[in-house]
Amino acid sequence: MAGTSYDTIVVGSGPGGCVVARRLADAGQNVALVEAGPRSDLPQNLRGLSAVGGHASGALTWPDLVAYYGRALPIAAPRYQQGRALGGSSAINSMVLSPGDIDDYVEWQDRAGCVDWGPDAMRPWLDQAASVLPIQRAIPGPVTEAVMSRVSENQYQPDRDSLRRSSSLDLDAVGLVDASLAASDGTRCTVFEGLVINRPDTAKGSISVYADTVVSRVKVRGTIATGVETNQGLVLRAKTVVLAAGAIGTPKLLARSVPEPHHVGKTIFDHPSFAFSVCGPDATASTSVGGLDSSPSAISQIYRFASDGDDSRPGDIQVLVIEDVVPVEALSVVLVTLLSPNSKGRMDLSLGSDLKIERGCLTSASDRTRFRSGVRRVAAALVAGDQSDSIRRVMIDDKGTSATSIDGMSDDELDRWLLAHPGPVAHLAGACRMGPSLDGGAVVSSEPEVAGQVFGLSGLYIADSSVLPGLTSGGLQIPVMAVSERIVAGILMS
Ligand SMILES: Cc1cc2nc3c(=O)[nH]c(=O)nc-3n(C[C@H](O)[C@H](O)[C@H](O)COP(=O)(O)OP(=O)(O)OC[C@H]3O[C@@H](n4cnc5c(N)ncnc54)[C@H](O)[C@@H]3O)c2cc1C
Repeated sequence: MAGTSYDTIVVGSGPGGCVVARRLADAGQNVALVEAGPRSDLPQNLRGLSAVGGHASGALTWPDLVAYYGRALPIAAPRYQQGRALGGSSAINSMVLSPGDIDDYVEWQDRAGCVDWGPDAMRPWLDQAASVLPIQRAIPGPVTEAVMSRVSENQYQPDRDSLRRSSSLDLDAVGLVDASLAASDGTRCTVFEGLVINRPDTAKGSISVYADTVVSRVKVRGTIATGVETNQGLVLRAKTVVLAAGAIGTPKLLARSVPEPHHVGKTIFDHPSFAFSVCGPDATASTSVGGLDSSPSAISQIYRFASDGDDSRPGDIQVLVIEDVVPVEALSVVLVTLLSPNSKGRMDLSLGSDLKIERGCLTSASDRTRFRSGVRRVAAALVAGDQSDSIRRVMIDDKGTSATSIDGMSDDELDRWLLAHPGPVAHLAGACRMGPSLDGGAVVSSEPEVAGQVFGLSGLYIADSSVLPGLTSGGLQIPVMAVSERIVAGILMS
């Protein structure tokens, strides 16, 4: 079969894929953007500002995706969330945009050997990534106000008209921070909407969108990528193929497509998290105050403080609140996350066996120390003093175990509890890590002119979360977009 030809095929329409498709088309290329997810509009529960619409929805996520929290045994693997939609996980995520901390990029540069990817080099790309989506803030609800006031030791001033805090779009946004959401007028904006749908009709080049289309492998002749083949046997050809199928999809595809997928999946990273359940006041109605939209389950405030422990960093513990997750029970969630973990996981991509993902969370002793200290501090703040209307009960599992029991747990007991009760954060990255050379364990190049190019193959690039050389302090959407902006700039120069 001859196959349809394009200048470039981009596999996956998440934050990485949409950035690449848009920039190449704007430069005059004819681009095929191939996405496994459906063409349908987002359902209502994903349209608003709610941070849990996607977590609850299976329709636009990969089914039966299992990822062990730490290592494979003895902890059972809950279902792992990854978007399968036009917009990738930006269609189902919590919409909080954050570029990370300066130290994150210092580590990319110094520890991961990506010499041109330090904070000064990354800043313009992060700014560019942050400029392509609308930004909106949400009004804190009563549980958020009460929790933020307690965990920040009363630094929180619930004065909605004079929010003087920094925004989550600032680098190093520690302390109390207003969450910046990828939305406008109370409506989510996915990267597909922001970059592909909103592309002017008069623009040069074209983006042909193939939705509901799963790429089964990259076609490679010798050491040259020539196109892709889909599950339905459709063959698309192009001079350049860019994999942007996400943290799991891209390493899976690469492992199926090349005879020796060196280093793929050998190291992965993810943020460990833990969720307290807070029984608060009865559900609040949506309101609008001072130009800010209020949606009960929108994330409005973030508090970041330093953990205790040798590897502690400013703001390495993040606390945020998602209100009214279960409105009939007036249940809200207080989510605690360790932002700069040292633990590493791995992915077994051996052909013929089931994909096994071990996120490796809390496998490093120093991560356990830091995370435990953060969880203890939040638990103590939540249960301290009088129980108010806004915080009537705080629980640490779905059986109603009180958060007061954390105080009586030894460190080992608490570690076991935290490992057995993973929170919902899903920030997997790094399976096709960027770096200076294949010898150093990297899968794609970090040389700016050929950034993202798979070592040993020409015409094949990766631009998504799988190339990140480390996690960043917050969500990954903006860092993935920034890295992809840089990779596509290199492709356009080559
Ligand atoms: C529940 C949840 C909440 C999150 N909240 C936030 C947040 O608030 N803020 C933040 O910054 N980050 C958040 N993240 C993380 C962030 O959304 C991801 O890190 C980011 O979307 C990764 O972008 P990506 O381009 O690597 O891949 P993805 O977003 O995963 O997109 C990859 C796309 O490729 C498609 N694909 C995969 N395989 C194939 C194939 N074989 N053929 C065709 N298409 C394929 C997938 O269907 C998917 O649409 C969250 C993630 C999740 C899961």
